[in-house]
Amino acid sequence: MTTELVLFNTLGRKLEPFRSQVPGEARIYTCGPTVYNEVHIGNLRTFAFQDLLRRSLRHLGYRVVQAMNLTDVDDKTIQGAHQAGVSLAEYTEPFIRTFLRDLETLHVERVEHFPKATEHIPPMIRLIETLVAKGYAYVSDGSVFFSIAKDPDYGRLSGFDLDQARRGERVAADEYGKEDVRDFVLWKAVKPGEPAWDSPWGSGRPGWHVECSAMSMEILGETFDLHCGGVDLIFPHHENEIAQSESATGKPFVRTWLHSEHLLVDGQKMSKSLGNQYTLPDLLARGLSARALRYLFLSVHYRQKLNFTFESLDGAAGALRRVDEMRFRLLHAEEKGAPDPHLAEAADRLRRDFAAGLADDLNVAVALAAVFAFVKEVNVAIEEGRIGQGDKPRVVDTLADVDRVLGVLDAMAWDTGAGEDDSAEIERLIKERNDARQRRDFAASDRIRGELAARGIALEDTPQGTRWKRK
Ligand code: AMP
Ligand code: ZN
Repeated sequence: MTTELVLFNTLGRKLEPFRSQVPGEARIYTCGPTVYNEVHIGNLRTFAFQDLLRRSLRHLGYRVVQAMNLTDVDDKTIQGAHQAGVSLAEYTEPFIRTFLRDLETLHVERVEHFPKATEHIPPMIRLIETLVAKGYAYVSDGSVFFSIAKDPDYGRLSGFDLDQARRGERVAADEYGKEDVRDFVLWKAVKPGEPAWDSPWGSGRPGWHVECSAMSMEILGETFDLHCGGVDLIFPHHENEIAQSESATGKPFVRTWLHSEHLLVDGQKMSKSLGNQYTLPDLLARGLSARALRYLFLSVHYRQKLNFTFESLDGAAGALRRVDEMRFRLLHAEEKGAPDPHLAEAADRLRRDFAAGLADDLNVAVALAAVFAFVKEVNVAIEEGRIGQGDKPRVVDTLADVDRVLGVLDAMAWDTGAGEDDSAEIERLIKERNDARQRRDFAASDRIRGELAARGIALEDTPQGTRWKRK
């Protein structure tokens, strides 16, 4: 390993050198989606950051083992399945599928493990049994609660102040049977019509927090290196994970906690009522590019809020065009004479500055500035006719190296055949069709609709205009 990695650890709130438990190996757990609806681009920002983390670790010499859970049993999935009148598995399966498809569309690598909560109930029960046996948890009416008062360290991650919370306040017996309002549920007694598993406390289901503690320790060990999620998970989810895991094992749970900031749309929180909550298919249907979205995600540091606007996506597409144009010019440049020493130096500088940027708490601004400085130097070399023997593959290989982290610089890798690049043409055909309809030339509009259908494009006419998607 050449470059020392420094990361901002939420636990302690400071930058510190990253030290993995096993030298050269990074074990990561990321809280995955609750699969009760389609993920939005905010969720995808978080998963794109985790992809950058994973690829950066590899670039800096680590072998990576990563697990991302799929929360397929909780209040929301149960309610959704109930309303739809289907089983939990039938309800969550399409959302898991579209989630994995969205990751693939954004070139987010598949992690090594995707545990589903419903497939790991026994280790959750074992963890709860240990907590009850050690006196950290108590049983009440078939449910089990973690007693925060038994954990003097509670609040270390989030700065949550136990004394300010309503210490010892009793709650009405009908409110979940908790002894103290601050306690949280580990096991929920079954309610009529809900999916349930047998346990020593009767039939029921695990609480959300215990799912992550049990699955992460089962797959990665009782102590592992990195745990991440969006900032909203710091409290109570991750605080509770620490409380459960460390009380049960007596060992540190996670060495480094990383939390990424949220995505906003036009400066506002995404919400259904504001109509600004976009999914990836929503953006693709507007003819926007997944590649530009990935670039936009990468270009903003993970500890800063990312303000999504359509202009910022245009800006991202523009930055990528600069790389594409340079490659195109290089492809058509003539290799003459000896290799250019300036270009070799520029390539070395890119590798060095890029790695140094990543190692500095994943400072992509520095890493991307190094890429664009290199693009500029190659452009100048082409203009000055300095491309010598072997220079073309040197440039291409250097870009390929940094692109193993960025996953966005190679336009060819994003050309799916069905192609994003035909979006503009599709939009043009839709406009032609709508013009034809306005003229009441239905023969023409039907012909265009047929042509689009043959290309796998489905149209939907809405009061806001025509939307399209790939079938
Ligand atoms: P959830 O399915 O709600 O548990 O969210 C999955 C992941 O997306 C978690 O890591 C959240 O912290 C993250 N997340 C939720 N909303 C946003 C947002 N607006 N921007 C970025 N990440 C988000
Ligand atoms: Zn979690």
